[in-house]
Amino acid sequence: MNKKLIVGNWKMNPMTIDEAQKIARKIKRTAPILVSTETVIAPPYPFIISCGSKKSIKNFHLGSQSVSIEINSGPFTGEVSASILKDVGVEYVIIGHSEQRARGESDVTVSKKALAVLTAGLSPIICVGEIVRDDAGAYLDTLKNQIKTSLEGIEQKFSADIILAYEPVWAIGAQEAMKNEDIHESSIFVKKVFSDIFGPEAGLKVKVLYGGSVNYRNAPDIISIGKVDGLLVGRESVNAPGFVELLKAVDVLK
Ligand code: PEP
Repeated sequence: MNKKLIVGNWKMNPMTIDEAQKIARKIKRTAPILVSTETVIAPPYPFIISCGSKKSIKNFHLGSQSVSIEINSGPFTGEVSASILKDVGVEYVIIGHSEQRARGESDVTVSKKALAVLTAGLSPIICVGEIVRDDAGAYLDTLKNQIKTSLEGIEQKFSADIILAYEPVWAIGAQEAMKNEDIHESSIFVKKVFSDIFGPEAGLKVKVLYGGSVNYRNAPDIISIGKVDGLLVGRESVNAPGFVELLKAVDVLK
């Protein structure tokens, strides 16, 4: 079964380890009862270990919100490598989030981080998305270039481990998500660009998530009408009751 993938990007929230554990506990209790959904939570670095579990939990995975481009250990103050993340149980790494890009992360850095993550045997969730839309459709070229450069230098053998998150920047932290029909159109475009790089088979298999103002109310339609393989959720992912509702609501979809 091709399971839906719901990723919670906690950003710089919550403010205490107690709160983080409370949210994680509720999600860990829900994940095993899901049938067609896998969930990932990406807490701030210092909370990752305590939000996980010694034993593996069905449908539950840990993620991280960033990673170093450096692969080997060494004098890289402030950096956290993919191998270190793997050692503490992380399986997915969000890369190229617009909030990181706004702080200077370039497409080239994104590709280096993706390579570091893939080399360590983890899955990168590579965020792409236009900052604004224009009627002439120039944003499609921007999106295409962003995807191509963010994947430059990544070998074909890694294509099955890559996840793309389509996040139109204007829909992040907004009042409403993008229209479902537009999400569908954009996800097809993203898959097409991926297949131009890695071939049609890889293009058919790649998971494309949607992110941008997703909540438990709009999530089912985004999945079923937007026809995406999962969701990258910001604000609603630290609202434990809402995120649990969201997981249950998308899990019952065919
Ligand atoms: C995000 O930051 O990835 C995101 C989608 O945020 P929100 O759901 O709050 O719009």
